[in-house]
Amino acid sequence: MIPAMVRRDFLRALAAAPLAGAQARLDLLIRHGEVLDPSRRWRRRGDVGIRDGKIAAIEDDLAAAPAAEVIDARGLLVTPGLVDLHTHCAWGMTGLSIKADPIAARSGTTTWVDAGSFGSDQAAGFRRFIVEPARARIFGYVHLYANLRNPDVDVVKYARENLRRTAQAALDNRDIILGVKVYVGANMNGRYSLDFLKLGRELGDQFKLPLMVHISFAPPETPQVMELLRAGDVVTHCFNTHTLGILEPDGQVRASVGEARQRGVLFDVGHGAGSFNFEVARKALAAGFPPDTISSDLYDINVRGPVFDLPTTLSKFLHLGMSLEETLLRGTAQPAKVINRVEGLGTLAVGAPADLALLALEEGEFKLMDSQKNVVTARQRIVSRVTICRGKRLV
Ligand SMILES: [Zn+2]
Repeated sequence: MIPAMVRRDFLRALAAAPLAGAQARLDLLIRHGEVLDPSRRWRRRGDVGIRDGKIAAIEDDLAAAPAAEVIDARGLLVTPGLVDLHTHCAWGMTGLSIKADPIAARSGTTTWVDAGSFGSDQAAGFRRFIVEPARARIFGYVHLYANLRNPDVDVVKYARENLRRTAQAALDNRDIILGVKVYVGANMNGRYSLDFLKLGRELGDQFKLPLMVHISFAPPETPQVMELLRAGDVVTHCFNTHTLGILEPDGQVRASVGEARQRGVLFDVGHGAGSFNFEVARKALAAGFPPDTISSDLYDINVRGPVFDLPTTLSKFLHLGMSLEETLLRGTAQPAKVINRVEGLGTLAVGAPADLALLALEEGEFKLMDSQKNVVTARQRIVSRVTICRGKRLV
């Protein structure tokens, strides 16, 4: 019989053992990589140790640390797992969605945000059948007026009646639902766009929920949209070449757009099949208007091109002259800040989640296409070699 006090001490010592720094056994050790954490502007050759789903150590040399598995990352960038703020990986509205995990495994994208492919009555299904089974992390924006299929319905009245239910779905699932998605564009919902956006504004103010707003074709006009947006709202498809866009005809950023950014409205790429144009992006960057977040808007009809995945979208910004650090920042820590649900997400700090991408920065000649089928030849591209999420390699 072990005396109770000794036993207690023994158990305490056991409990403390996994916290004993790099000398305790690591689950995974990534050696000799170029460790790059854009959130801290930190870049140097070194080793990363992972234990219990978290980053346990980042040091010049962890050769002495025992590890269950070792990955040689020589020649690769070791970055935070990529965070894609605009994807479609939930089923509900369109049937054009994709499954996150297989693409996560090949693209280094460990965190996915579904941009409103589901409505309030599908939120429970989103959790049960999309978020919970996935190995990648998945969040979402709930759509304000999903399931508008009946032409006999007064759609604005329907959306108004659904306002509280939509907000409630977001509030009841706060851990995975970030806010409310609204389409704004003459092509999406005709003459109702501005009505829907006003309803979204009402909901956002009343329930303190951010909006993600799709922009495409006027009407409404850009200033009418911008004036309804507040700090923390996200404008997605910001580099589209359509009539509801961020630029004046002369290539300058519209005053209402500049003012929105000043107020804290965020601008997201959301590439997609129709919404990213090299020339618009080039002009915006030249005017000092980089996106806050770079996202793919990945779904079924663009995953085989021109979008493919988030690394390909990021590569387009390298081609446009954005530095590697600034580009990766917009595909890691910045979208993680918008999500704001997981401490340390999008960074490589010790104690942060062990979500990592092992990326190759390939040199050569690569054809990259925008949504209007314009093709450029890039000299570099980002390709993922290994994806690690919650401390485990995705395959
Ligand atoms: Zn989308």
